[in-house]
Amino acid sequence: MSSIADKLAKTELFRNASQDTIQMVMGNTAPVELSPGEILLSPACENQHIYVLLSGTLSIRLGTPDSPEISELGAGVSVGELSVIDGIPPAAYVIAKENCAVFPIHRDSLHKLIADASPVASNLLRLLTRSMRVNTQRIVHDSRQIRELMDLANVDVLTGLYNRRWMDNALIRLVAQAKKGGFPLCILMIDVDNFKKYNDTQGHTGGDQALMVMGDILKTAVRPYDFSTRYGGEEFLVILPGTKIKEGMAVAERIRQAVQNKTILSGDGEPMPGITVSIGLAINDQNATFQSLIDAADAQLYRAKKEGRNCVRY
Ligand code: GH3
Ligand code: MG
Ligand code: MG
Repeated sequence: MSSIADKLAKTELFRNASQDTIQMVMGNTAPVELSPGEILLSPACENQHIYVLLSGTLSIRLGTPDSPEISELGAGVSVGELSVIDGIPPAAYVIAKENCAVFPIHRDSLHKLIADASPVASNLLRLLTRSMRVNTQRIVHDSRQIRELMDLANVDVLTGLYNRRWMDNALIRLVAQAKKGGFPLCILMIDVDNFKKYNDTQGHTGGDQALMVMGDILKTAVRPYDFSTRYGGEEFLVILPGTKIKEGMAVAERIRQAVQNKTILSGDGEPMPGITVSIGLAINDQNATFQSLIDAADAQLYRAKKEGRNCVRY
């Protein structure tokens, strides 16, 4: 027996199948090699094959190819059964996690095998497929809803920035990653100056307009892999992964100037008085924790306030 026939005989799909059956299915077909990241099945494409995984690992993802992985499959399993049997595109993405070898079985060979079995067996298969498809679609729908709700729960409605809940989780993860990878992590604690007075003179709605402007500035002032959050009422936290203190100071200074130079418009489009911010910086060291970084940035922010506001301190 060839090594491929040998491997196929050990898979779940071919359990108890005769060598003749395996040889018939194999015909002249050769295994397909996949590189890491290659998409084998996608909800956007009809599928003509069941793929038996001979070696490597496959990743299952719902929604988009870069959604979180929902499961991982190893050698011996097969994928694509449902879509081959009911002719509807796959419900999930199946993507190679590493170099993989898969053996494709075309739907025609599969139908020939099924037709040779008892009609009751093939009817049962069709019925099972239909009820599984309903369940799979329900899972896809539910997981999309959960993702959308999680996005909403992590974003501040007024500014469109991440909220504190999200940032606390993210910062714990980022501090650990920076420690493991030995790279710098700079954080900026930003607080609007004399904002109580701004509210008193411009009204709460005017204050909200100013906070929205802060959101716009903080979204555009940082690189795509930095994070800006509304940490509290008029307090914002920016995380700059892979950034040394000197570059962090430059980013902070850029933000400070952008805020000072920005014209704030009222809801009616009338110019209102501008605002300024004070910024405290902190950078990680080997012993840094989420809390020690926040405390250090807070202490510098306090200094910036005490030393006249509208300034950056480290
Ligand atoms: P400092 O320069 O020392 O930071 O003075 P401050 O007046 O900014 O400090 P304080 O913390 O006393 O005041 C913060 C103000 O921010 C008080 C609060 O009413 C206002 N604030 C907090 N959240 C919101 C919001 O969502 N909208 C508006 N308009 N104001 C808010
Ligand atoms: Mg303030
Ligand atoms: Mg404050």
